[in-house]
Amino acid sequence: MADRTFLTWPFFDDSHRKLAADLDAWCESERALFSHADETDLDSSCKKIVKHLASGGWLRYAVPKAFGGATESLDVRSLCIIRETLARRSGLADFVFALQGLGVGPITEFGSDELKKKYLPNIAVGKSIGAFAISEKDAGSDVGAMTTVARRDGKDFIIDGQKTWISNAGIADHYVVFCRLPENGEKSYIALLVDANNAGMRVTERIALISPHPLGTIQFTNCRVSADAVVGTAGDGLKIALGTLDVFRSTVGAAALGLARRALDESLTHTSSRKQFGQKLGDFQITQAKIAEIAVNIDASALLVYRAAWARDTGAQRITREAAMAKLFATESAQKIIDDSVQLLGARGVVAGEPVEQLYREIRALRIYEGTSEIQKLIIAAQVLSPNPKTQKMPAK
Ligand SMILES: Cc1cc2nc3c(=O)[nH]c(=O)nc-3n(C[C@H](O)[C@H](O)[C@H](O)COP(=O)(O)OP(=O)(O)OC[C@H]3O[C@@H](n4cnc5c(N)ncnc54)[C@H](O)[C@@H]3O)c2cc1C
Repeated sequence: MADRTFLTWPFFDDSHRKLAADLDAWCESERALFSHADETDLDSSCKKIVKHLASGGWLRYAVPKAFGGATESLDVRSLCIIRETLARRSGLADFVFALQGLGVGPITEFGSDELKKKYLPNIAVGKSIGAFAISEKDAGSDVGAMTTVARRDGKDFIIDGQKTWISNAGIADHYVVFCRLPENGEKSYIALLVDANNAGMRVTERIALISPHPLGTIQFTNCRVSADAVVGTAGDGLKIALGTLDVFRSTVGAAALGLARRALDESLTHTSSRKQFGQKLGDFQITQAKIAEIAVNIDASALLVYRAAWARDTGAQRITREAAMAKLFATESAQKIIDDSVQLLGARGVVAGEPVEQLYREIRALRIYEGTSEIQKLIIAAQVLSPNPKTQKMPAK
């Protein structure tokens, strides 16, 4: 059982402590959820997990109360607690939950009431799956270099271009697609909602990763959407993307924290039973030093993650610096913690299917998606060097 004493920290109120306890109990009673994660049919595994999480009511935390959600507006501490708790048991269950929020995040944060009414309630009950499409082959960290365009045609927009590395490509019911808007000038962007059954969009490729995660490439050819599909204000596309990532980025740190806590649990179980040279591994000081470093890094990650979430929930407009610190530190630390755990388990640590071997594969992508570690450093440095928001020169992602 992972350490839950962090819930006594002042970042939380009773609703968070109850959420953590209820979700833990539910996870214990619903072990089937976590066995879906290893099936080879990734798409149906993800869809089953969506239904399963919906049946527990957990997807309600991915949207605001007025549209079927559990909290007035997105509560980042709740999102972090849920991601951390799920990730401790299954990287895939965590991913599925995260994408239910991020996939409609631009609508939740910036969309019209019409879009919210149309799309958010179905997300909350697991009837639909969303996706967030900004990356392109030549526009990863540098999202402003995207070439997908949206051109006005009467009251509609026509999208042409290609997006890649898109989570849920192929299983999503709708996609928020970020495009250039040439009519407004070179540095203008727009976010558009595209339904998966639009004849102008096609998933052209599925990309297999080192750990299960539905990912693919989407082609948009003469893809027509109506003016109702504009998310927020035309021209604000990049602001919408970055504002949405600002909300969700600390939750990536929370997922890393969950993976790290699981690695610590596995390490403790192993080192307190495995004997070499006539004593338990945990009795060797060199093992104890590793365990101590892991414990310190877990608490430091938790402090940064929940500091960022608390700041956002209690009124901060932007938490760019805090969220970047949380993601950077928690994901980098988790990678090291998991590697140490593999080492503590010896040969057993690299056996396919062992929990720490799975964790070793699962953690890697978290240092890349929603902005790489290097980009987080640029963001933090920009904020530290030029703390006046008006003078900040922000990297793209
Ligand atoms: C599992 C997974 C899920 C994803 N899901 C989605 C999704 O749902 N939607 C979506 O739109 N995208 C998604 N992505 C894409 C992800 O956001 C990009 O992979 C990420 O932003 C990095 O872009 P890139 O892969 O093109 O790497 P690049 O930008 O080419 O970077 C390569 C390396 O260069 C470094 N680098 C880049 N610029 C600089 C710089 N200025 N200074 C120093 N170093 C630099 C990077 O840190 C990295 O180490 C996903 C990716 C993964 C792995």
